[in-house]
Amino acid sequence: MQHFPIYLNMTNRDVLLAGSGEIALAKLRLLARTPARLTLFAPNPEPELADFAAEVGAALLPRMLYANDLHNAALVYAATGDAAEDARIARLARGAGVLLNIVDNLAGSDFITPAIVDRAPVTVAIGTEGAAPVLARAIKSELEERLPESLGTLARAGKIAREAVEALPQGRARRDFWAEYYFETGPHALETTGAGGLGDALHTLLQQHLSQAPEAGRVDLVGAGPGAADLMTLRARKLLDQADVVIHDGLVPQPILELARREAQFIAVGKQGFGPSTPQHRINELMVAHARAGARVVRLKGGDPSIFGRLDDETEALSAAGIDWAITPGITAASAAAACIGTSLTRRGRNQALQLLTAQDVDGLAEQDWKNLSLPDSVAAIYMGKRAARFVQGRLLMHGADPATPVTVVANASRPDQRILPLMLESLATGMADSALKGPAILLLGLAPAAARAELPQLLAELG
Ligand code: SAH
Repeated sequence: MQHFPIYLNMTNRDVLLAGSGEIALAKLRLLARTPARLTLFAPNPEPELADFAAEVGAALLPRMLYANDLHNAALVYAATGDAAEDARIARLARGAGVLLNIVDNLAGSDFITPAIVDRAPVTVAIGTEGAAPVLARAIKSELEERLPESLGTLARAGKIAREAVEALPQGRARRDFWAEYYFETGPHALETTGAGGLGDALHTLLQQHLSQAPEAGRVDLVGAGPGAADLMTLRARKLLDQADVVIHDGLVPQPILELARREAQFIAVGKQGFGPSTPQHRINELMVAHARAGARVVRLKGGDPSIFGRLDDETEALSAAGIDWAITPGITAASAAAACIGTSLTRRGRNQALQLLTAQDVDGLAEQDWKNLSLPDSVAAIYMGKRAARFVQGRLLMHGADPATPVTVVANASRPDQRILPLMLESLATGMADSALKGPAILLLGLAPAAARAELPQLLAELG
């Protein structure tokens, strides 16, 4: 973000605009929507420009802009269409420390004017730092279609009522009120009674909300999926959007957390393999305490919450505390990894069963039914298997597994840094050690990537 978007209060500000033609007129049209004091420096103003300046009350000086003009200016727009003249104005502006925009000259400007969707007081600014003006225009027209003209009217009436609405407790009560106003009551009132009825509708709604008993807190245990934000369910997204408190695992990446409201409280309770972790009882206490305080808590877990996620510990603690909870499933790492390598997890004639197992538990490396897993055609998704690769390999070989059994390791499935290692049981430990994988990885025992997906050339190069 080389250009940082901010909204400048234009009340009582002087904005200078230099130019006599069409370019200056386009900027003047935009600036005239603000309360700024506008001065136009136009040695040879085109009639249309002069007329418009008069219409919007901008001062028109039929001369060039000089250093003295810059004293109280907040912004200067150089819109003369003449590179040398624009450069002269730029030098003056720099000397006076006034922020400058040269129209259609990104490199020469201190600030740029975004594409704007104007539903004042709601305004959307779209900028691409000059990289893709076409894209900015497309986004703008899409938003203009989506945001009804009436949004501005609703927001203006809402702004007047802000103080009265402070009678509602801060946080969710107020948010719920505004959501109902903007998306239901407000549009309905506008349609039936017009803008005149809006104030009454707003106050009736406020009285209703003031007389409601506060909603009890609750906890949703939500699967965030394997990491890609678009692999979350719609319900998960909705719950995140409504959450007051988000208690999340270390596995949940930032782009997913950004789907929650900015004001939500985020609590990281990372539990990483052998690394530092928040004790389970502490996580339970946090959920209970926030829900008791009336918050909507989302307990966000990587993948599916019911798979190696200590889910029952948490739901039992919540039930014991008398707190309402529900589970929202997510896409588990095994499904995401199978999708990455273009393979199915079960297949008629190959494996009728699939085991989901973990190579480590709270006590360290975890024993399994190795004999069964060593049978030809057995398929298992081994979670938390990265550090246990050597152990798993040793146990399986000891129980007679074929050394040529495929084992595909998928790290960071569905994320930009996803990696696939198509290994065999005999090369599992060395292959993993050599590849120095970073991030969560799952071992798919008995599965090889569909031929087209294999990154074999890359792997061979890596293994030297
Ligand atoms: N509830 C989670 C699993 C939690 S255990 C789920 O359903 O996926 C943590 C383990 O999940 C990691 O050690 C790793 O083996 C696996 N895992 C989670 N996300 C992964 C991803 N994006 N790619 C590969 N493995 C992943």
